[in-house]
Amino acid sequence: MEYDGFKLRKALGYWILCKGYSGTVYLHRYVWEKEYGEIPSGMVIHHKDGDRGNCSLDNLEMVSKSDHVRIHSGWVRRDGEWYAKPCTVCGELKPLTEFYPMGEIWQARCKVCHDAASAEYDRKNLEKTRKRKRAYWHRRKQTS
Ligand SMILES: [Zn+2]
Ligand SMILES: [Zn+2]
Repeated sequence: MEYDGFKLRKALGYWILCKGYSGTVYLHRYVWEKEYGEIPSGMVIHHKDGDRGNCSLDNLEMVSKSDHVRIHSGWVRRDGEWYAKPCTVCGELKPLTEFYPMGEIWQARCKVCHDAASAEYDRKNLEKTRKRKRAYWHRRKQTS
């Protein structure tokens, strides 16, 4: 395989352009930069269809590194805005409004999973407190 007269080799599913002494370049970055100019730092080129080997321009998209992580974690955009993401506990894809905010971002687990976990935590705590109380009264009985 060749592209623009450069030899291509494949590594981990990516096409790599062998530019001789000027080093090696990922084909998707090369294709993007040829059309739109230099990729700013902090931005990455994403393969829309998930196929790293498909480097046609309409399969490429420039996104920020953090957005890229989101795309690959299954987040969903609507009108260019992040709209939904999968819960790391139940795995369900839910709108971001179904997650409690955590500073600038959202919790990894959805409200339902969060509430279930904190209810479980409260229940365990209550049990512990009861046991402690019971042990206390038991000791009192023995000493009196
Ligand atoms: Zn990607
Ligand atoms: Zn959940």
